Parts: sequence; structure tokens; C-alpha cells
Amino acid sequence: MSSRIFCIANQKGGVGKTTTTVNLAAGLARLGQRVLVVDLDPQGNATMGSGIDKRTLESSVYDVLLETATVAEAGRRADAAGYDLLPANRELAGAEVELVGLEHRNERLRRALAESRDDYDVVLIDCPPTLNLLTINGLVSAHGVIVPMQCEYFALEGLSDLVNTIRQIHANLNRDLQVIGLLRVMFDPRITLQQQVSDQLKAHFGDKVFDTVIPRNVRLAEAPSYGQPGVVFDPAAKGAQAYLEFARELVQRLATLK
Ligand code: ADP
Ligand code: MG
Repeated sequence: MSSRIFCIANQKGGVGKTTTTVNLAAGLARLGQRVLVVDLDPQGNATMGSGIDKRTLESSVYDVLLETATVAEAGRRADAAGYDLLPANRELAGAEVELVGLEHRNERLRRALAESRDDYDVVLIDCPPTLNLLTINGLVSAHGVIVPMQCEYFALEGLSDLVNTIRQIHANLNRDLQVIGLLRVMFDPRITLQQQVSDQLKAHFGDKVFDTVIPRNVRLAEAPSYGQPGVVFDPAAKGAQAYLEFARELVQRLATLK
């Protein structure tokens, strides 16, 4: 079966996209899935957090978008994490401008990933916190979107922008695209407001809200400085356990999707 491709997206920065991408990827790898992580953010946090030095890349997702390298050529093995990575660094910020004048500018990533469709069970794309041509390339490539979110006061408001964007891409560029689910992250059950927003989310989005809740956990925040996902760095920690549980939940949910 060819790979299932998911974007980890949210237009806000600092909401846990990258943490979710690398930990879900490592969790899925532990379940025996062949996983590719695509770092689509010029900040290169998923790259560094997977133990690959973004300052010394020979080629990257930038080259793939400009068609000067294939996914297989630019991809690297993130050994400790257990998955392959298509890395990124600052150079990717330039691709935004360069792509504008090129043919198939919205579909470059999709076309590149199609060549590797038999090499992976799951591809996870870590999106930047903006709706630019890079994010569009991610959304056009994907079967679904996983939205990490903090249960804060403005969370629902920000969500309507993302949902509109997904609707437009679905209508115009990618009929496969759907929201797979909302993942509550950095959750602190002692904060009443978070509990209330969490309840609102469930009332509003029903079973589009994943059952698994990722707690706020300092080990998840420490892991990137060791070049490892938290799931690998300290598998026993509460945050790592939650991401492992999330990987299991996602695999089950995928079995029920077409
Ligand atoms: P984004 O990719 O959306 O910008 P990150 O995944 O980089 O967000 O997370 C933002 C910050 O929050 C990072 O410093 C990260 O280590 C930290 N963080 C993410 N998830 C958790 C969590 N569950 N518990 C504690 N810290 C977290
Ligand atoms: Mg990020």
C-alpha cells in the first residue's frame, strides 16, 4: 500500500507542531511503521530535533522543491529516532520566492513524494506557522491534517482560519484533503479554563477530537537539545507515554478511514 501523508499544521507558532511531528513519527516507528518526516519549516526545528545538524546539510527539502534532488537523495536516516527525514534549514525561506515563478508551484512536494510512495507507510509534514507557498505544498500533498492545539481562550478562533484554508485547498487543489483530527497538547488539567476549552472543543468537533491528550511535560521540551524526540529521549516520561498512545490511536483511526 502506498504511504499515507499527513500535515501537522496550525497557523499559530509555538503550539506544538514540531513536537507532535517528531514524537508521533518516533511512536509510529516503534509500532513498526516506515516513517518519513518532512521538515517544511525554514527554522529547521524538526531537523535539529531529529539529531540532524541543519547547518551542514548537503541537500534538503529546498532542493527537492526546486527539483535538483529527489526525496531519496536528500533524505537522511535519523538513526536514534527510527525514521527518515527530509531536512530543512534557512535556505528554504528562499524557496518561497523562487517557487512563485515556476511551473506546478503548488504541487512540487506532491510530485516528489509520489516517487517515494512505496518506501513509507506514513509521511508526516511539519508545516511552518504561516499560510505560504510552503504550507500549500504540504496541504496539496496530504491526505489529511492533524491539528495540535492548546486549550486556550483564542484557540477556537484561530481554528476557523485553518479550517477555511483547508476547505479552500480541498475545493481547488486537493480533493483528498480532510481534517483527521484535533490533538490537545501541553494540557494542564489543573487549569479550569483549559478543561472548559477542551469540553467546548469536544462539543463542537465531536469525534474529530482525538481521545489522547498530551500533557505539559518538561521532558518533551528538553529532548530537542539532545537531538532526540521525547519518545526516544525518555520513553517513560508522561509526555512520551502520551505520544506513544497517540501513535496507537492514529493507527486505529487510519484503519477505519477509506
Ligand atoms: P511549533 O512547532 O508549533 O512552533 P513546538 O513543537 O516547537 O511548536 O513547541 C513550542 C515549545 O513548546 C517548544 O519549546 C517545545 O519544546 C515546547 N513544548 C511542546 N509541547 C510540549 C509539551 N507537551 N510539554 C512541554 N513543552 C512542550
Ligand atoms: Mg515548529
